[in-house]
Amino acid sequence: MINKLCIIGVGLIGGSLARALRAAGHVREVSGYGRSIANLQLAVELGVIDRVEVSLADAARLADVIVLAVPVGGMAEILQQLAPLLTDQVIVTDVGSVKGAVVAAARAALGARFPHFVPGHPIAGREQSGVAASVPDLFRHRRVILTPGTETDSTALARVRTMWEAAGAETIELTAEDHDRILSVSSHLPQMLATCLMDMVVRHDDHRAILDCAAGGFRDVTRIAGSDPVMWRDICLTNRDAMVNALRQYHVELRDLISAVEKGDGEWLLDTFTRAKHARDALNRNK
Ligand code: NAD
Repeated sequence: MINKLCIIGVGLIGGSLARALRAAGHVREVSGYGRSIANLQLAVELGVIDRVEVSLADAARLADVIVLAVPVGGMAEILQQLAPLLTDQVIVTDVGSVKGAVVAAARAALGARFPHFVPGHPIAGREQSGVAASVPDLFRHRRVILTPGTETDSTALARVRTMWEAAGAETIELTAEDHDRILSVSSHLPQMLATCLMDMVVRHDDHRAILDCAAGGFRDVTRIAGSDPVMWRDICLTNRDAMVNALRQYHVELRDLISAVEKGDGEWLLDTFTRAKHARDALNRNK
């Protein structure tokens, strides 16, 4: 049970976590801190948080657990501001989509309190953002990747693990480096492809006709292009090396595909479509 939870950045993910923990009876009081007072007031009206904190000092005071749920690019500054305000008991965790950069920022900012920082990333989300889009079951049966290091305090880790389990999720652990490499392919690359396709089509001479003729496939593939631009800019800027590797790998695949289409290499095309179909069918079966 968490006595006082403080969410910094009460949007889709922070709001959904607050809702899930309230629904599970795992938290006594939830406060929120953020940039937009109107958004925080909406969070109170929606019953997501109990109170709005007007300063980080108030937010940090008496909190047992502080969850950083702002875009990755904003984490370092908040960690620096939080560092001198933290009491000995408080655990800080985050939900950022990139882990290496957030862990480095926490290490630099928190000093002796760094072991009480537990990095995390829920593998759940949607293309809408903001507290109005938050739901209590966003994390149910979803995975949350925790990326503790050797210094991470085992009690802090256990509390964060229990918090996510109370929200309905299953937790797994990876190193921050493995997380960023794996997610660059499983999450960041699909977003880049959806964004590129949507952006290419909208700038195409025939874009009206193309969109008029777009069927389910186009909608499925481009759905996540509607995600928050700030979040994705920050992910690109903070997971640069892994993302460039993933994009280069995909570039090679595209180059081979172009060459097969150009040459009319039916055997290569059939092999590739068949291999991908089997892999996709297996993913459906294992869902
Ligand atoms: P969101 O836009 O819905 O919410 C972010 C909130 O943080 C907003 O209320 C915003 O006002 C506030 N905020 C932004 N910058 C701030 C700052 N500097 N100081 C204080 N408050 C600030 O975004 P979200 O989708 O909830 O994403 C939050 C975090 O969760 C990001 O780090 C993102 O990488 C991660 N994440 C997102 C998803 C997803 O699908 N959306 C999934 C997993 C993890």
